[in-house]
Amino acid sequence: MAFLIDGKKISAEIKDELKEQVAALAAKGTTLTLAVIQVGDDKASSVYVGNKKKACEYIGVQSLAYELPASTTEEELLSLVKELNERKDVNGILVQLPLPKHIDEDKVLLAIDPDKDVDGFHPVSVGRLWIGQKGYESCTPAGIIQLLKRSGIEIAGKECVIVGRSNIVGKPMAALLLRENGTVTVCHSRTKDLASVTKRADILVVAIGKPKFITAEYVKEGAVVIDVGIHRMEDNKLCGDVDFADVEPHVSAITPVPGGVGPMTIAMLMCNVVRSAEQ
Ligand code: NDP
Repeated sequence: MAFLIDGKKISAEIKDELKEQVAALAAKGTTLTLAVIQVGDDKASSVYVGNKKKACEYIGVQSLAYELPASTTEEELLSLVKELNERKDVNGILVQLPLPKHIDEDKVLLAIDPDKDVDGFHPVSVGRLWIGQKGYESCTPAGIIQLLKRSGIEIAGKECVIVGRSNIVGKPMAALLLRENGTVTVCHSRTKDLASVTKRADILVVAIGKPKFITAEYVKEGAVVIDVGIHRMEDNKLCGDVDFADVEPHVSAITPVPGGVGPMTIAMLMCNVVRSAEQ
């Protein structure tokens, strides 16, 4: 049976460590504040924002919530971001995506001060990551590195194959695995004979956005499989981009869905907020 990589347990460990670090900072007179902006009342976004607030409360970070109406203009949002950039008491700024269609997301993300960009989406953060400078790491891929390390899985020298090249998962995942000295290949919808590439992987990271896409024929015996996907099925159950039941008997370790990658994203966001104290 494959080893189950327990994201729930690892994310709880990380949050407990951060709680101690936040208390130590507070003892020295440094408090941390995260500003969270949500525009409109998208239900999924409200759940994510609520979870972020809860995580802040747990580790001892103050959160400032800005719940703006869907009618908020781009100018109004940009002016709020500018104000938060200038506030010395605000360490991190997070704009919950997606934004309403009349607002240019790229423009808003670009307006955030890179030193407060705790989501790690700003082009400066992305550039810093690729050239090995200190900065904020994109939360989901950073969480995957923690899952591997804290499960005792060596990355250096391994064949790492990523399926998916999005800006929030696939591309930063490639940079992080490369930084850990993995040999990295990134696949996408135009990759020819995908299975022949994924079968080379010692570590296979899947972020395609298609339920149960990766079956046993895509994996090498004994590989480590990280499933980033998350989908709610008709029976209301959650599943990933990997067909867990089909793949699990063939691999040495695998993340379940739910309880694998999912819980790590917020833990790493909190990590970035704590790191902001150093900026
Ligand atoms: P995107 O839709 O932005 O990207 C999907 C990627 O998969 C694209 O690069 C696309 O290629 C590639 N792809 C699509 N079909 C195929 C195929 N048949 N063969 C090979 N590659 C293919 O998705 P995200 O990266 O944003 O998210 C991926 C999944 O991860 C989703 O299920 C999402 O819900 C989940 N997710 C989970 C998070 C968490 O915290 N657990 C956080 C973020 C995402 P191309 O570029 O050529 O179109």
